Amino acid sequence: MTENNSISLEDQIKSLALKEGADLVGICEAAPLSNKIFSDASFLLKDAQSIISIAISQDQKSIEKYLSKQDRADFCIKADEITQKLRAIGEKIKILLEQEGFNAFNCNINFDYRNANRNPTTYKALDTLVSLIDKEKSGAELSHSEKKTLSALKKMLKIGIRKNPIDFVPEFSHRCAAEAAGLGRIGWSGNLITEKYGARVMLTSVITNATLMPDKPLEKNPCLMCKLCEKACQGGFFDKKEEECIQIANMEEKIGKRKSYSYCAVICGGFIGQNRFKEWSTWSPYRFKSYGLETIDQLPNDDSVDDIYLDIMERAILEGGRKAQNVLKLNRTILVGLHNKPKEDWIPTCANCQIICGPTMQEKKKSLNLLINGGNIEDGDI
Ligand code: SF4
Ligand code: SF4
Repeated sequence: MTENNSISLEDQIKSLALKEGADLVGICEAAPLSNKIFSDASFLLKDAQSIISIAISQDQKSIEKYLSKQDRADFCIKADEITQKLRAIGEKIKILLEQEGFNAFNCNINFDYRNANRNPTTYKALDTLVSLIDKEKSGAELSHSEKKTLSALKKMLKIGIRKNPIDFVPEFSHRCAAEAAGLGRIGWSGNLITEKYGARVMLTSVITNATLMPDKPLEKNPCLMCKLCEKACQGGFFDKKEEECIQIANMEEKIGKRKSYSYCAVICGGFIGQNRFKEWSTWSPYRFKSYGLETIDQLPNDDSVDDIYLDIMERAILEGGRKAQNVLKLNRTILVGLHNKPKEDWIPTCANCQIICGPTMQEKKKSLNLLINGGNIEDGDI
């Protein structure tokens, strides 16, 4: 334990985080998490020894307005504010550790994937393709070279989109660190469930080569196994009954058995606003029909779902306009990470499995009711 003015470094870190606006903070060792690629902290800091996990709770009122389709802007603004705050807290902890002679890495918060195609040329080519499609659709005359570029980029898109990964691997899993550091436990939905806020928290982590005294994980999992999260998932990404076991550090958690990530990506990516339930939608106004997929009512229950997801993405780009802009927004997000993305790109359409899960059973039920009685977003509504 490192001492400074008789206050341990661990206590200095925690008081600093809480003073700067964190709601929860804890510390875990890096080694027990290093057996999984997505929680191996040495990817970001070679000699990682400890991880500081930090959480800020989300605003209940803005969640209620988001779930009931009254207002999305407030939820987006609050999420952006929390993101900036987490970033700032991480930076202060990093500086404190460096002043004490250690190395530290302030992680990106989300949408920061190891296997994402970060080649700027790809993103520039996509921008060009969409702007040429939009120009052509507006009725404007394309020059000879523009026509050639458009045709070449369309061919490249067909091949390139099939190379898009379905399973993104985060640079670092904040959820795993948060569980090991005692902030909460992984619930049925796969989200971190805390005692005080349910799943309504945003997380970040600071990795350091300082050997810090770790906190103990929570003994009791706050997940109530109510499965309301499954009822809030239009995608059908995880099962209601069938479970799978995951190992985090020395803990074992039972989560709903997951299907291909395409089931989430199609919905959470904003491509489709309805899949399993027709009485309500996410914030996405689009349906299978709006992509010319007249025969699809629900996503198929086999591996062909991945092809459908990539097909929808391709169709969205070729259509131009708002659907294509949605893909460009996702690409920008995945390229730059959540910290630095422009505010206008922070426009979620789902996240329901997480934000439905308030701190009490009463709160969870109320949230699900707001969602399913909130109706549909139709094309033209937003
Ligand atoms: S809604 Fe929350 S508490 Fe209920 S099963 Fe899902 S994760 Fe667990
Ligand atoms: S984010 Fe939405 S689509 Fe994805 S798993 Fe959660 S509820 Fe389902």
